[in-house]
Amino acid sequence: MDFDNNTLKKAFTFRFYAGLNDFLPSEKKQKPFVQFFKTPVTVRETIESMGIPLSEVNLVIVNGISSALNKQLRNGDRVAVYPEFEGIDVSPVSKLRKPKPLKHTSFILDSHLGKLAKYLRMLGFDSLYDNNFADEEIILKALKDNRIILTRDKLLLKSPVVMHGYYVRATDKHEQLREIVQKFNLYCQFKSFTRCMTCNSILIQVTKKELPVKPDQQIIATYNKFFFCRQCNKLFWKGSHFIRMEIYIRNLLQA
Ligand SMILES: [Zn+2]
Repeated sequence: MDFDNNTLKKAFTFRFYAGLNDFLPSEKKQKPFVQFFKTPVTVRETIESMGIPLSEVNLVIVNGISSALNKQLRNGDRVAVYPEFEGIDVSPVSKLRKPKPLKHTSFILDSHLGKLAKYLRMLGFDSLYDNNFADEEIILKALKDNRIILTRDKLLLKSPVVMHGYYVRATDKHEQLREIVQKFNLYCQFKSFTRCMTCNSILIQVTKKELPVKPDQQIIATYNKFFFCRQCNKLFWKGSHFIRMEIYIRNLLQA
């Protein structure tokens, strides 16, 4: 009989922290559990096989020591896996080669998140969205423009080339917006009503004298500031719809 040690299954203990538990079945959430793998096996392979997107992993501790993803595990190893910590920079201790934080926060959203894209645009964030984007297209565009991928599809984040990606937990569009604003700490970056909610283009401010399209006389008489989307050929002004959105944003900030 051939007892090749390299192909025997070995036992490892895993514990995933905070939001990483969202990817685990209930019996493995928020507690240590033992999982068997054929060896040789790396930290990266074990984490990926459990469906955790590597783009959400920020720190791996093996037997109490910060470890790289390519570390080979040994029988009995204890592996603790942490996501990004809100407001705490673990880069000095983490052995993971994480991409540098992005200078400008911009997004690309998958086909499930059209409404969230509109809301992010309302807050002024560059948010690409097209119902027809294929997964590969989303990944390529994200890499090209340094965009964060927002998705409800865990598989999309499994691609090893995805640098900045986030699985949106909430299903309600208002909750989703709150989640993203909180997750990426966007509060100080709002540039509300500077971007077209329909097409993502930057709006230009136009005076009454140079209105490219003419609304009703009453509207021209009532409002002083007008904004124009060259892409959609649409004119906007700060009417009742605008005031409702402003209240919505203020509530979001207070929450
Ligand atoms: Zn537009």
